Amino acid sequence: MSEQDSLHRTGSTLDDAASKNPWDVLIIGGGITGAGILLDAVQRGLKAILIEMQDFAEGTSSRSTKLVHGGLRYLKQFEIGLVAEVGKERRIVYENAPHVTTPEWMLLPLLEGGSYGVLAASFGIRLYDYLAGVKRSERRQMLSREQTLHREPLLRTEGLKGAGTYVEYRTDDARLTLEIIKEAVARGGTALNYTKATRLQKEDGRVIGVEAQSTLHRETMTTLLATRIINATGPWVDVLREMDGSKQGKTLHWTKGVHLVVDASKFPLSHPVYFDVPDGRMIFAIPRDGKTYIGTTDTDFHADLLHPRMTVTDRDYLLDAVQFMFPSVVLSQNDVESSWAGVRPLIHEAGKNPSEISRKDEVFESQSGLITIAGGKLTGYRKMAEKVVDLVTKRLSAVHQKSYPPCQTEHLRLSGGHFSSSALFASFIREQTERGVALGLSAETAEKLVRRYGSNITDVFSYLEHDRPEVARDLSQEVYATLQYGMDHEMVCTPSDYFVRRTASLYFNIAFVREWMTPVAAYMAQRLGWTDAERDCMEKDLQVHLEEATVPVSAEHAPSTRNEAKEPVPLG
Ligand SMILES: Cc1cc2nc3c(=O)[nH]c(=O)nc-3n(C[C@H](O)[C@H](O)[C@H](O)COP(=O)(O)OP(=O)(O)OC[C@H]3O[C@@H](n4cnc5c(N)ncnc54)[C@H](O)[C@@H]3O)c2cc1C
Repeated sequence: MSEQDSLHRTGSTLDDAASKNPWDVLIIGGGITGAGILLDAVQRGLKAILIEMQDFAEGTSSRSTKLVHGGLRYLKQFEIGLVAEVGKERRIVYENAPHVTTPEWMLLPLLEGGSYGVLAASFGIRLYDYLAGVKRSERRQMLSREQTLHREPLLRTEGLKGAGTYVEYRTDDARLTLEIIKEAVARGGTALNYTKATRLQKEDGRVIGVEAQSTLHRETMTTLLATRIINATGPWVDVLREMDGSKQGKTLHWTKGVHLVVDASKFPLSHPVYFDVPDGRMIFAIPRDGKTYIGTTDTDFHADLLHPRMTVTDRDYLLDAVQFMFPSVVLSQNDVESSWAGVRPLIHEAGKNPSEISRKDEVFESQSGLITIAGGKLTGYRKMAEKVVDLVTKRLSAVHQKSYPPCQTEHLRLSGGHFSSSALFASFIREQTERGVALGLSAETAEKLVRRYGSNITDVFSYLEHDRPEVARDLSQEVYATLQYGMDHEMVCTPSDYFVRRTASLYFNIAFVREWMTPVAAYMAQRLGWTDAERDCMEKDLQVHLEEATVPVSAEHAPSTRNEAKEPVPLG
């Protein structure tokens, strides 16, 4: 990616965006849904801009179970269409971004009286493979009790009848979102984080623009005009529909899901497991980067959307679930190193409990012309984008008297995924790891970075080819290269952006956050010219993230300190 194509943020970006008015399409919301729409729109030749009021993916798209999956459990709810659609998408996401999607054999233990009997599981997973068009080498296998225990000795033996095993893809949800946005920007799109749509501008009842305000540089406010405006704000879609005066008919139903992270030494799981818990639900335990994460809960949510948090009840529920299925694993509350909580933007269905509500997406078009997309899954982002951009191009065709091409993202590589085939990724990792080692990194760190940045690793390593500048003297090579790459190419504006959504360290390597938070803030302060008060504000913001990840609250409405940390000291 050239310098010009990279994601940059400077004080004038919002003004630059306004100087390019009017846009064909303006997307509000920089989660996976908005990101997918931006890329699809740009690829069809539309002049498109995306604005996100927090950091990219800071809403639900950094707080999922981090699986690109078809959702085996939806078969039990007879959601055949949903499973077929998102199931097929798994392979497409993998081909286009093998560096953020790792195939893993998932184990489904079968217990007496559990969710699935042996026959039902055998048939169900085969149907799942069939609907998702799974290739032969990745199709399900059924294991006997002995084979199951051999594969995962930590499992409960009581009532265990065997297991099914099938392939799912582990991802980094925030980085997947970011790679989509980076690809869209490399192809001519514009994306701004920390830019909030505060008001919809209308003319003769039609929405023609938004008042956009920088949430870092508070005084910066401008009007962005566009022929079509898309509301892709996930859990916030009804807030925007209210602004539009079109919140009627179907509305959102928020449910919260929590995940806990423990060290692999405490829970040394060798495979991802999808297992029954006593209340009839099923949850995941997934090994990753020397940790194991466990989730999720699914409970109605009515509290602060910006700060969903783990409660003591959530934590204890998940620890009890581990104790039930893995009796030899003894975890205490002190073993929980980190956690995250996300809010599902589901479409309300009267009389259904949270786990029963469909994960289907729907598109609404209001009288003002605002297009809203609600519901859906991370995995199905590309098809959701196709639906929305099909509608946008239909409307634009009528206005501009021209036709637009159909969706072209099925074979479009995402940023970092520029390999002619996913099969080449393994040899690329070997080669580039050697290069990282030659630049002075340990083999372990070099490989981690190659896997994280994929084909963009050459840009990351380029920072290590020359002597580090004096201001970076307190940073390790890894921190310097990834932070500077983040600031130059991934719109890192705050230490939290770097530690939470660019590196996932807050969740999977919290010791790294504690070790580097002060030098990172000092380096960013120097490079970005922050005042002491601004740096203080940024450091407090990260502290609040740390507290939210590590300290459970006793009740959902417990006040968060994060607003206090972030609101009063905007930049500039
Ligand atoms: C616990 C949990 C586990 C999940 N697990 C999986 C999984 O494993 N696999 C899977 O496929 N799916 C999973 N999902 C579903 C998936 O995460 C969501 O469907 C998806 O992330 C929603 O993305 P989104 O872009 O629609 O919303 P978001 O990611 O929330 O993005 C919306 C964005 O809009 C921004 N915004 C709001 N208002 C404004 C405004 N006025 N101006 C500018 N920006 C604004 C917000 O800041 C936010 O970043 C899970 C969900 C949860 C909660």
